[in-house]
Amino acid sequence: MAVSAKVYLIGAGPGDPGLLTLRGKEILECADVVVYDRLVSPAILGMCNPKAKMVDVGKMPTHHKVKQSEINKLLVQFAKENPAGVIARLKGGDPFVFGRGGEEALELVDAGVEFEVVPGITSAISVPAYAGIPVSHRGIATSFHIITGHERNVILEPQATESIHSQQEPVGLDFSALAHCPGTLIFLMGIANMDFIAKRLMECGKDPKTPLAFIEKGTTPYQRTVMATLETAGETIVRENVTAPAITIMGGVVELGKTLAWKKNLPLSGKRLVVTRAAKQASGITARLTALGAEVIETPMIETRDVIASTDGAKQSTSVDFNDLKNFNLLAFTSTNGVESFFKQLLASGRDIRELAGKKIASVGKITEKKLLEYGIRCDYVPEDHTGEGLGKLLAEKCAVGELEESRILLLQGNLADDTLLKLLPKAVRWVVYETLPVAELPDWKREAVEGADAVVFASTSAVENYVKVASVPHLSFCIGRMTESAAKNHGFETVTSDETTMDSLAKKIVEYYSAWERA
Ligand code: SAH
Repeated sequence: MAVSAKVYLIGAGPGDPGLLTLRGKEILECADVVVYDRLVSPAILGMCNPKAKMVDVGKMPTHHKVKQSEINKLLVQFAKENPAGVIARLKGGDPFVFGRGGEEALELVDAGVEFEVVPGITSAISVPAYAGIPVSHRGIATSFHIITGHERNVILEPQATESIHSQQEPVGLDFSALAHCPGTLIFLMGIANMDFIAKRLMECGKDPKTPLAFIEKGTTPYQRTVMATLETAGETIVRENVTAPAITIMGGVVELGKTLAWKKNLPLSGKRLVVTRAAKQASGITARLTALGAEVIETPMIETRDVIASTDGAKQSTSVDFNDLKNFNLLAFTSTNGVESFFKQLLASGRDIRELAGKKIASVGKITEKKLLEYGIRCDYVPEDHTGEGLGKLLAEKCAVGELEESRILLLQGNLADDTLLKLLPKAVRWVVYETLPVAELPDWKREAVEGADAVVFASTSAVENYVKVASVPHLSFCIGRMTESAAKNHGFETVTSDETTMDSLAKKIVEYYSAWERA
């Protein structure tokens, strides 16, 4: 009998991707299917196994995209379709805090599907924390209460402005008890009904001067805190256009937010930028822009694909067989991608590292050497200067003294590797173990995130050329290099180009652009 699938009800936390739990991340990285909600940030979706089927059941403010009963059924269906599969059900905040995780779990129990709950940090306490408001505080609040501002039969959080005309009594709320409760009150999903809720609390005796705060899109680069009192709640929502997702927190602790608000408004706060560099190169610029407050969507324009083919110097390629490994007694790796692809394909062919017993191993440099260590393999040869030329010369010397045999050297490289090694070792054989290709299309969730961005960052003309094939053009681009700039201009982008061809210079330019724009 097939091993059964398991569904993981995972809390994604309130928005900041750093607030996802380690357990949550671990499961997303190996998930076969990810069923996710509207409030989950693109950065967290980007952590999911790139091969996972991504299913958006996001609820839009005024209607359910996919009905809850359908979501429940979908989870069971995916579990049945994927024996031994890892099905991640990813929800904002915590799955059991107004997340309907309980309903999903009950359905899974009914269907005999195994499940696990991975709690998340609920917005109810973390969003106030990011606004500098402790939900409890000695001498001010000795309890806090998390309340839904809408219940069954109440319209699902329409935009605040329309909400004022569509108030209905949230079913099941005991306003008298709430009004007399001395603790902090935290309302989720309450913006639409807040005018009504505030009035009912006052009617039941709650002090109209009770301080309250609306915190919109908490923990994200778009976080905003709006302070009010119970009596000004409704008008403040309309005046300030407070929109979902937002929480409302009421009580004396709100005052502390005036002193403790620690989250700085950074130069790029509220900006969503697309970075088109390859994942490994992107981390530097991503970290810089994130530290400046931006939300960064990493969208590499190239991807690598595992292949096994033999090429000669003229890059004529023929497919190869792992049986031929016995012909070689030295394997040379020139990239971490090469190491990963080689071992993945070796295992997929039904073999394992024992095929390498007795063979010598060479690496171009330290990073590749470290990657090989992860596979339990030490290198015999690493050139001092960590270059392909250095490696070629080192191996050629060893051949010259009879330590190695040139025709029994196997080079494991990517399709774009140059011929340096083959020129220095003309009798060696090269296998291409991975290919670098332009990205052919973006997954839907990423295309939507990218198309909603403020600007896109380009570091090469090829990135521009490929970007316009996979996503529509936002009006603004930040470019490194004049060639990149003119390619972007040709495709109708407004361009801002860094003075120097470095990421630091580009980050500086982006900040300058937005601060000038804000002053204007
Ligand atoms: N399970 C979630 C809550 C789901 S109900 C949790 O534990 O946080 C959805 C409501 O959560 C929204 O209407 C809003 O009130 C609140 N919410 C979720 N994320 C938020 C955020 N980043 N900022 C402000 N409120 C948020």
